[in-house]
Order: sequence, then structure tokens, then C-alpha cells
Amino acid sequence: MRKKIVAGNWKMNKTYQEAISLINEIINATEKLDIKSEENKLIIIAPPFPYLQKAVEMTAKTLSIKIAAQNCHSEEQGAYTGEIAANALQSLGVAYVIIGHSERRTYFNESNEFLAKKVNVALQNKLTPIFCCGELLLHRQENTHFDIIKKQLHESIFHLSKDDFRKIIIAYEPVWAIGTGVTATSEQAQEMHAYIRNLIKDAYSNEIADNTPILYGGSCNSKNAKELFANIDVDGGLIGGASLKSEDFINIVNSY
Ligand code: PEP
Repeated sequence: MRKKIVAGNWKMNKTYQEAISLINEIINATEKLDIKSEENKLIIIAPPFPYLQKAVEMTAKTLSIKIAAQNCHSEEQGAYTGEIAANALQSLGVAYVIIGHSERRTYFNESNEFLAKKVNVALQNKLTPIFCCGELLLHRQENTHFDIIKKQLHESIFHLSKDDFRKIIIAYEPVWAIGTGVTATSEQAQEMHAYIRNLIKDAYSNEIADNTPILYGGSCNSKNAKELFANIDVDGGLIGGASLKSEDFINIVNSY
């Protein structure tokens, strides 16, 4: 059975004190939810880098919550001032890392090839990549959105061995839906998720495709999550804006 995952990407938001309050609120709400490990429900929180260690410590006893970094560098270590190595994250107890978010692709010119290196270094350091893919509005208007997603997957993750690919989480995040308040329709999300799952079948196997979690991201909130998550190939969400308030975030977690 595929894991159901709701991941909150806090981006460059929250002071340290605000972050601690939010994590506490999420822990308290999660404990009330009484998520059993056999339910296969997982909550992932991706706070800014300086709060990761505290976040790992705070959530250590809540098995259904794991901590992610929002990025890592493509090299193992070295003279890359201001960057963060995957092994540094792993040494803090961070378990997941978001790779290929559209904001990194757009503002930091991260190419598919560069992201492939990040995926490799993350896996070598026992971090689970949450690999983001997504098309621009222009691609959808030109009807090239499927080709774009195929290229992103082929150039960044389809080089992986079967064993490594089994560790990947994919997030489909149409760029035109991120932070815009415009969400993909349920049909658009399901159509693309099914397409991605078929690509995985072709590249690997039915079994691997069936077990790969594919999350939807892009203006997902407590009002639309239920409908989006009801789709057979949507295994949860990567949530930006709506992950910054515990009530909204927990409502999304409860949308299964
Ligand atoms: C994101 O940045 O991954 C995201 C999905 O943002 P939002 O939910 O704010 O659209």
C-alpha cells in the first residue's frame, strides 16, 4: 500500500519562535489524531535550515511526523560558501529533502541535470528526495505539459537503479498553481499523476510504479484537498501557504 503523505514546505517564512510554536501545534494536533503507523499516513515538515535540528528533536517521539530540508547542495562537501551538504542534514537526523522545487529552478537556474546530481547525493547520504516536477502555464497552453514532465523525470531521476528509485517521492507541482490561488482541477491532477505513474511503469516496473508516492502541490488548501486526494493516483500533497497555519495544515492532513 502506498504511503499517504502531507508535506508542508514553509519556504522562507517564520521566525525561530514562530516555528517552535507551529511545530508544537502540529505535534499536539497530530497526537490527538492518533495516527497508527499501519495507516501509512505520514506528515513531513520542511522548515528553514536553522530550525532543522530543533524540529528533529521536537518531533522525535511523534512517529508520524518527519522533518525535511528544503534543499541540499549537489556536491558532497567543500568550498561552497552558504550551501548545505546532504551529509550535514543527515547528521542532524533530517530524513527527507525537497529537490527541484520550481522556485529553485526559476530563481537559482537549477537544471534537470544539476537536480540529478542533488538526487544522487541525497540518496548516497540516506535522505529521501521529494522530487518536484511541474510545467509552466505556457507549456499547458501549448499542450507540451506531458513532454515537459517526461523530460524532467528522465533527466533527473530515471537514471536511478531500481533500489534507489524505490526511495523516491514525487511531487507534481504545476508552476502556474504554486502560490497563485489557482489550483489544478481534480481531473488535471489525476491525469498527470496517472501519466507519471505510467512513465515509472515503463522505466521500472508495475510494482515500483504502484508503490511510488506521487503528491500534488499548487494552492492545495483545506477546502480543495479532499477532492484532490480522492483521486486514485494522488497520494497526498506538498503544501506551501496552507502549511503555515496549524489548523489549515491539520485539516489538510485530515482530508483523507
Ligand atoms: C509549494 O511551494 O510547494 C506549494 C505547493 O505552494 P502553495 O501551496 O503555496 O501553492
